[in-house]
Amino acid sequence: MSSSFFIALQEASVKYPTGSGAHTALANVTLLIEPGEWVTVAGPNGSGKSTLAGVLLGTCRLTAGRMVRKEHMDIRGVLQHPESQHIGDTPAEEFAFALNDRHLSKEELRQIQKQALLRVGLELSPETPLNSLSGGQKQLVNIAAALATAPDMLVLDEPTAMLDPAARELVLRVVRQAHLQGTTVVWITHRLEEAVYASRIVAFREGGVAFDGAPETFFYGDPATASGSETPCERIGLDPPFVVQTALHLKKKGHGLTARPLSFDDLAKAVSRLCL
Ligand code: ADP
Ligand code: MG
Repeated sequence: MSSSFFIALQEASVKYPTGSGAHTALANVTLLIEPGEWVTVAGPNGSGKSTLAGVLLGTCRLTAGRMVRKEHMDIRGVLQHPESQHIGDTPAEEFAFALNDRHLSKEELRQIQKQALLRVGLELSPETPLNSLSGGQKQLVNIAAALATAPDMLVLDEPTAMLDPAARELVLRVVRQAHLQGTTVVWITHRLEEAVYASRIVAFREGGVAFDGAPETFFYGDPATASGSETPCERIGLDPPFVVQTALHLKKKGHGLTARPLSFDDLAKAVSRLCL
């Protein structure tokens, strides 16, 4: 096992008790998360993504297997339902809880929370009651509080589910910035449009890892296999992003597209080469 990991899961399983027995939500998952990665975790509803988030964040116990976490690592989470993680009544209280081990003066805390709220595009007083905010605004407060601590690792479980497209774009950009500044990111989503910054994709199906590798391979298949065969993304039953769908369509139509674009920019470059 590599020594430079943040979190290692070995044969990790989680079973939830049910009336008649137990339901397996995670089944024998072996996964290594290394510093600096952006791991996008994808998978259909019920495939175990939120259970994995709980395991990584230490709120969900394994029923079998092992998890090893690097000591003294600062790991923060942003959950799908923003209310479920509020501790205080105002953004100011959320920041105070998130930063309570930093021994900051009142003035330092005030400055940090002001900048952190601006960073996610929220122009509101830190004293605004959280219950007067929209779902999207509450989520942005959670993200701002998590990022204010400059964590080693951030686990986001469908963080954009409550957001409109503009706020979604903003959150992706803000987390991208944190990643460039050194935060390791685990971004859980079923919206594969959000996988543009992933250095790796881990896809779940029925509680198990169905794919773990490069985004290009996930969306376009192994370069060694014949083009036209099903990609890992299609096999798992997930919709590829628009850019990938377009490129796959051009390939199928025999337009000679050889690139494997993931972003609109890369697709535009590939298409403009075809037109020369
Ligand atoms: P996802 O986030 O991919 O939708 P989850 O991790 O939430 O998946 O759920 C995985 C499976 O475990 C699902 O079948 C779900 O119904 C079940 N599950 C999740 N939480 C519980 C729970 N607290 N008790 C019983 N079953 C649960
Ligand atoms: Mg979930």
